[in-house]
Amino acid sequence: MKHGYSDFGEKLSGHSGIYEVMEDTGQALSAGGMIMMGGGNPAHIPAVEQVWRRRLEEILAEPGAMESMLGDYDTPRGRPGFLETLAAFLHERLGWPVGPENIAVTTGSQTANFLLFNLLAGPAGGGAEHRRILFPLVPEYIGYADQGVAPDMFRAWRPEIELRGGDTFKYRLVFGEMTPDIAAICVSRPTNPSSNVITDAELTALSRLAGESGARLIIDHAYGQPFPGVIFTDVRPPPWEDHVIHTFSLSKLGLPTTRTGIVVAEAGIIDRIGRMNAQVVLATSTIGQTITGPLFASGELSRMCAEAVRPFYRQRSEAALEALRESFAGQGQYRVHECEGAFFLWIWLPGLPVTDRELYARLKRRGLLVVPGSYFFPGLQEPWEHASQCIRVTYSAEPEAVRRGMRILAEEVRELGKSEGTTD
Ligand code: PLP
Repeated sequence: MKHGYSDFGEKLSGHSGIYEVMEDTGQALSAGGMIMMGGGNPAHIPAVEQVWRRRLEEILAEPGAMESMLGDYDTPRGRPGFLETLAAFLHERLGWPVGPENIAVTTGSQTANFLLFNLLAGPAGGGAEHRRILFPLVPEYIGYADQGVAPDMFRAWRPEIELRGGDTFKYRLVFGEMTPDIAAICVSRPTNPSSNVITDAELTALSRLAGESGARLIIDHAYGQPFPGVIFTDVRPPPWEDHVIHTFSLSKLGLPTTRTGIVVAEAGIIDRIGRMNAQVVLATSTIGQTITGPLFASGELSRMCAEAVRPFYRQRSEAALEALRESFAGQGQYRVHECEGAFFLWIWLPGLPVTDRELYARLKRRGLLVVPGSYFFPGLQEPWEHASQCIRVTYSAEPEAVRRGMRILAEEVRELGKSEGTTD
C-alpha cells in the first residue's frame, strides 16, 4: 500500500469554498490593508463588547468561576447549568416545552450542521439506501456545501426570481419533488448569503411536507430569532414540533471565537449529538456558556439583541445599500436582493462578462474582499447561469470602508463592461 488518504480524508481535506473564505478572511485581517467584505465576521459593537468585558470581570471576581471555566471539562452535551438556563429561556421566550435533554452545545454551529447532516444522511441500511439533505431554496450557506462525508449528499430546489421595484429582487420558494431519499430539509433563516427570510407560511408548509414524508426539518438560526435577532421582516419564531431541529450560535452576537453552537431537538437526536461530540471534540467549549448563561437568565441578552444588535445591522445595511446605489448611479448593471436580515448584500450582476470567481479575483487584486456567489448553490443539479452572476458582500465593516468597497466594485464592473462593449 502507498502513502495516501481515505475517501473521507480526501473529501474533508479537499478544496472547499468555506476554506477559501475563512483563509482569506483570517489572512487579510491579520495582514491589514484589505477592505473586508468577505467572511461573515460580526462587527465589534461597543455596547455589546462592554457587556462581554463586564461579564469577564464578574467571572474573575467570582471565587472559582474562572478556574472552573478554564479548568474543567464539560459533559459532551454542554454544561448542565447552561442547558437548564437555556431550556428555561426557550420555554419563556418561545413557549417551547423543552428541558435540558432537548439541548446540546457544539463547537460552533458549523459543527452542529456537520454532525446533523452526517447523522441523518449518507449511505444507510448497509448500503441499501442513500439518504440526502434537501436545500429548498438556493442560494444557501457556503459552509454546508462540502460537509457531507459521503458523496452526493445534497439536493436543492431552484427558486423563482421576483423582480421588485427599483433595483431589487427577491427569491421565492418553489416547491419541487420530495423524493423518498430526502432525510431532512434544511434552511438558514435568514439565509446566508441572500438575507432572504422565508416567511411563516413557507416555513409552515416546509414543516408539514417534512412531517408527512417522515423527514426532519433543520432550521439554522445563526443570525435569526430569538438571538442574535438580525431579522428585519415581521416573522415569528417557529412553534415546537418533534421533527424540527433548530441550530443556534453565539458567534453572530459577537462571540465567534468561543466556538459555541447549540442544537435544540427531540431528546433522541440530542443524545446522539452528545455521543458524536464525545468522539470528535470530547467536550464542549465552556467560555461562551459561562459568559452568556446569566445574560440569558436575566433577560439582558434579549434586550441587547433588540436594542443594540439588530438596530446596528439595520443601520449598516441601509448605509451599504446607499453606498451601492451611489457607486452604481447611472450605470445600471446590477440588482440587489431585498435586505431582510443577516450581515450581507447579495448582488446580482446579470450582464457580467466574466464569472463571479474571476470578478472576485480582480477585486481581491484591488484590495477588496468579497465572496463569489457560485459557492452558494449546494445540491443544485441543473445548470443555472444566475449562479455565476452573483457575489456576496458583508456590510458589518465601518461604513466608510464599505463605501470605498462599493466604489471599487462599481468601477471594476464598469471597466469590465467597457472592455466587452456592454456598458448598459
Ligand atoms: N450557519 C450559517 C448560516 C452561517 O452563516 C454560519 C457562519 O457564518 C454558521 C452556521 C456557522 O457559524 P459558527 O460555527 O460560528 O456558529
